[in-house]
Amino acid sequence: MMEKQSSSSTNPTNSYPAKKEPLRVGVLGFGGLGQAAARVLAPKQQMLWVAAADQKGYAYDAAGLNPDSCITTYRSQGSLGYLEPAGVLSNQTIQDLINQASVDGYFLALPNLPNTFMASVARQFIEAGWQGVLVDALKRTSAVEQLLELQDELQEAGITYMTGCGATPGLLTAAAALAAQSYAEIHRVEITFGVGIANWEAYRATIREDIAHLPGYNVERAKGMSDAEVEALLEQTNGILKLENMEHADDVMLELAGICSRDRVTVGGIVDTRNPQKPLKTNVQITGRTFEGKISTHTFTLGNETSMAANVCGPAFGYLKAGVSLHQRGIYGLFTAAEVMPHFVN
Ligand code: NAD
Repeated sequence: MMEKQSSSSTNPTNSYPAKKEPLRVGVLGFGGLGQAAARVLAPKQQMLWVAAADQKGYAYDAAGLNPDSCITTYRSQGSLGYLEPAGVLSNQTIQDLINQASVDGYFLALPNLPNTFMASVARQFIEAGWQGVLVDALKRTSAVEQLLELQDELQEAGITYMTGCGATPGLLTAAAALAAQSYAEIHRVEITFGVGIANWEAYRATIREDIAHLPGYNVERAKGMSDAEVEALLEQTNGILKLENMEHADDVMLELAGICSRDRVTVGGIVDTRNPQKPLKTNVQITGRTFEGKISTHTFTLGNETSMAANVCGPAFGYLKAGVSLHQRGIYGLFTAAEVMPHFVN
């Protein structure tokens, strides 16, 4: 059990917004991102991590979960369901948590395999009559489009759903939306990411979903690959995945936000699955024309020391906090990272 201290009077940043109970947060999916999310939340005063689920079990403790014991249990026994005393084994972990846990908002750190999975999870929340905030770090355009179709249902259900709120889409898309303000017309948004991870097994879904973008592959094929087949592919490429012209939802999100048409947005990058150092600097370049007729490019570059996990989980919880402030004002439905500013979580 993790004790949360009340906001410290010596830290002035905690006095805004007004001191109140921390938000109760759940994390669905406890792989690479889910575990990083637990660590990101641990020092926060304004959020309390109370629930998490993997495919075979879940853990819920209204007083707060301990990241160390959850991660140790998951890694040694394969599921949070074995956690003492808060774990429960189940073959419908998401449904069980929806029914049992008292949670203000969930970060959905789930694989989107098949490509319809996240939309089906959103539907599960709607059908259960659950109300609150959901945040995902979805990547594919077609996956975000499925959620767009649920806009009215989410609104009627009283759910504020923040989609595409990881790094890309997410942090970089939001940076593009901000940078666009200097221009009268946006010509091009070019996202280039570099990801370095020590071993692919720490982020199986991320790597499978990236493989699905390679020539000759698709989501179905990548989903069906055994771990040995993924390893064999990575052996051939020396652990490197080079991705170009990806189907990434940054395009539909910037189009929906009225910034530019989707064909002006490109996303590509390099993933090194054998080295935690980034193979290149992640950046977004926004090119446009100013009101004076000048063509210029803004560049927003992420620090090389920031990991994928830091750049996904930080924004995800920033958007969760923003989502809660919308929800408290009775504003429900679907929002993207390009139309709402994330709030900083202290
Ligand atoms: P992972 O493979 O490491 O872990 C997935 C977790 O989900 C596991 O704990 C697994 O047990 C659980 N899970 C699977 N099916 C489940 C079910 N039906 N019910 C409950 N739990 C279930 O995944 P990861 O590498 O952390 O990636 C998670 C997602 O984040 C992926 O979809 C990936 O594409 C996305 N991602 C987004 C960005 C971004 O910038 N937007 C960056 C990285 C990853």
